[in-house]
Amino acid sequence: MGKLHTPGGIREIGKKFDFHTAKRLGQNFLTDLSVVDQIVESSQAGLGDLVIEIGPGMGVMTARTAVAAGKVTAIEVDEKLIPILKETLAPYPNVVVINEDVLKADLPAIIEQERLLPDGTLAEQVRILGNLPYYITTPILMKLLEERVGVASITIMVQKEVAQRIAAPPGNRTYGALSVAVQYFCEIDYVCTVPKGAFFPAPRVDSAVIHLRLRAKPPVELISEKLFFECVKKGFGQRRKTLHNALTGIGDLDKEATGKLLQDCGIDPVRRAETLSLDEFAALANRLAEPGLHIR
Ligand code: SAM
Repeated sequence: MGKLHTPGGIREIGKKFDFHTAKRLGQNFLTDLSVVDQIVESSQAGLGDLVIEIGPGMGVMTARTAVAAGKVTAIEVDEKLIPILKETLAPYPNVVVINEDVLKADLPAIIEQERLLPDGTLAEQVRILGNLPYYITTPILMKLLEERVGVASITIMVQKEVAQRIAAPPGNRTYGALSVAVQYFCEIDYVCTVPKGAFFPAPRVDSAVIHLRLRAKPPVELISEKLFFECVKKGFGQRRKTLHNALTGIGDLDKEATGKLLQDCGIDPVRRAETLSLDEFAALANRLAEPGLHIR
């Protein structure tokens, strides 16, 4: 069989199994082994770990990860790739492939079920890794974070522009609800930029690898996490508007009460959400959780 990490090898396997890459499933396969190795290395997966891979494709990264980790459980939605993976991953007895849509998968149950390593021990850490299908990057990431699936890290290839948004500090043009959410749950390392030419077929945009370390404890103290995310959602819902306008209506507050909320938190009402730090969003949420703002 041809080499998995070359366009020729991918074509040869495709021909053998009558498989054609599907754009609608974000199937851009990695053809640069140094990038594959950089992802596996930056994931910090060790022989005592279980790695859950999202979207193994033809298995190029799965095979490299199987050597570094105790076990790899790969979740692939495309049933046409399953017989291919069976063949390409045959030399790796510590790999399990699950044919499922990651967005519908019960990840905590999968982790529970897969935790036992081939050597009979329980995985020390569970790590997530993947060259993500770009059409669903944000839903996948938010699912992993919000469902608190109990993993130590998430190492993913995403569109470069999404990686920049995730890592953006307050005040940056690209700072938004996704930045706040990921920064709330994780510490972020930007690993590397990956050019279009590292994939077959080549995507239209450049990509980047980021390594997210799940925080043991959030960076801000909150009375209600739900209110925190409501402030973030409403603030960025109309990001061009001033906070005074964008937040009016939150927690049923009228315009005057929203002004008081901002004033109580020492936040200038003409500022915009993209300038607020996590601490400032937390201050708003915590003030909202207290009584005394409804002045109607
Ligand atoms: N890991 C391979 C590589 O780097 O060459 C393939 C990466 S490719 C960008 C994304 C993979 O995710 C494809 O194999 C695609 O079929 C799979 N995929 C797309 N949507 C998915 C979903 N909802 N659940 C699981 N896998 C999905």
